[in-house]
Amino acid sequence: MADYEYDLLVIGSGPAGQRAAIQAAKLDKRVAIVERKAVVGGACINTGTIPSKTLREAVLHLSGYRERGFYGASYTVKQNITMGDLIYRADHVIRHEIDVTRHQLMRNRVEVLNAQAAFVDPHTVRLAYVDGRNQRDVTATHIIVATGTFSTRDPHIPFDGQHIFISDDILRLERLPRTLAVVGAGVIGCEYASLFAALGVRVTLIDKRTRLLSFVDAEIIDALAYHLRQNRVTLRLGEEVSRLEPVGDANDQRVKISLASGKQIVTEKALYSIGRTGATDRLNLPAAGLRADERGRLSVNANYQTDVPHIYAVGDVIGFPSLASASMEQGRLAACHALGVEAKSVPELFPYGIYTIPEISIVGRNEEELTDLGVPYEIGKAQYREIARGQILGDSTGLLKLIFHRETRLLLGVHIIGEGASELVHIGQAVLAFGGSIDYFVQTVFNYPTLAECYKTAAFDGINRLG
Ligand SMILES: Cc1cc2nc3c(=O)[nH]c(=O)nc-3n(C[C@H](O)[C@H](O)[C@H](O)COP(=O)(O)OP(=O)(O)OC[C@H]3O[C@@H](n4cnc5c(N)ncnc54)[C@H](O)[C@@H]3O)c2cc1C
Repeated sequence: MADYEYDLLVIGSGPAGQRAAIQAAKLDKRVAIVERKAVVGGACINTGTIPSKTLREAVLHLSGYRERGFYGASYTVKQNITMGDLIYRADHVIRHEIDVTRHQLMRNRVEVLNAQAAFVDPHTVRLAYVDGRNQRDVTATHIIVATGTFSTRDPHIPFDGQHIFISDDILRLERLPRTLAVVGAGVIGCEYASLFAALGVRVTLIDKRTRLLSFVDAEIIDALAYHLRQNRVTLRLGEEVSRLEPVGDANDQRVKISLASGKQIVTEKALYSIGRTGATDRLNLPAAGLRADERGRLSVNANYQTDVPHIYAVGDVIGFPSLASASMEQGRLAACHALGVEAKSVPELFPYGIYTIPEISIVGRNEEELTDLGVPYEIGKAQYREIARGQILGDSTGLLKLIFHRETRLLLGVHIIGEGASELVHIGQAVLAFGGSIDYFVQTVFNYPTLAECYKTAAFDGINRLG
């Protein structure tokens, strides 16, 4: 066998790459991670997950949004909230997370190579160092591509990062608009639409699809649409954008959006969020015998191997579900497979957290899927307002819905919208993983008062529906 410098070379230091590299290091392998940006952490820490979730928390706190049910719609912790107020908190968390990640890599003795990587052949990668002065080739027995994605842009749209911008630009916005159009109602579009709406910005959310987030249970989506409208979001679904252009002068610059239906929207700013493209364009894939699809993505088998078996791909670069949580697990699994270590995982039980306001979380099957599969199921629901903790928090509209098999009573899915949904879902996830039935919730005592009690109330509701 040829003698390579590394047992494993990982390209990209986002959640997928980090976990892959640390897993290999824990197995005492020679491992390096290549990162072309000056900071580690990828989109997750620097532009995506961490900034957006921290901005959301800052918005919820400063706007007093959570307390308005008690103290009225005019309640606010700070008047005249600025982008600076929001970015201050995000910067703090981002800096901390970069430091923690760098430290984790160092502690595990993962070598970090600050360079742009491109294949020379299937076992050799050329590193163009970020200082622009040097390059060198490194070889590895196994290579994991974890290069993530970038926001898809239409070359005809004049992005300026302030008036017409993508989600990566949000931390550089100089001021909050009074009106905002969000083009693209995927997860990122819906999250930012609800975040800005909670600040009082008049938001128009546009998508050519006729339904929001089609992979989420329809009842949960109805509840989300209700909340968005309550926060004065105008939903323009089933509408295609034909043109997006700046209008006005330097003192009063606006954006005009023309829809194929003939409608026009004039807004202060427009967030363009129609999807993401795999970051494979600069990898020189043909040299490794690989090809990406038209969206820059690599296809893999169940072990995350590409068509070249010693080259793996994990994280957003392989597409759905494109979540940091799933990316980390894929990184770990790919490293284990490459290094001949057995590792188990159940992708069907990966949860989704969607941080709209209110937040949504789901695990397992939804009603539409089970209907298509012809599985006899029943549902059980609990409204947060029925639960003491819901009243204490002032969340009277939250909903937890259980789906279970009518005959075996085995739990099949959990769907939640409301405060704490993304934490609460893990109780259901554990019951699903251990093959539990809804009787578990009836027989279990939960702390009182907690939102977890929703599980018990929903289970009783479900059993009553069995007749
Ligand atoms: C606005 C937004 C909000 C999100 N919110 C959530 C959320 O709440 N929860 C959640 O689970 N997920 C969320 N995500 C998704 C999450 O950020 C991604 O799933 C995750 O970052 C993917 O990890 P990754 O390691 O595959 O790629 P990335 O995090 O994108 O990292 C890839 C790294 O590879 C580097 N790289 C690329 N090409 C090269 C090269 N040729 N050479 C060297 N380095 C290279 C890049 O610089 C980057 O650092 C969000 C994403 C966005 C954009």
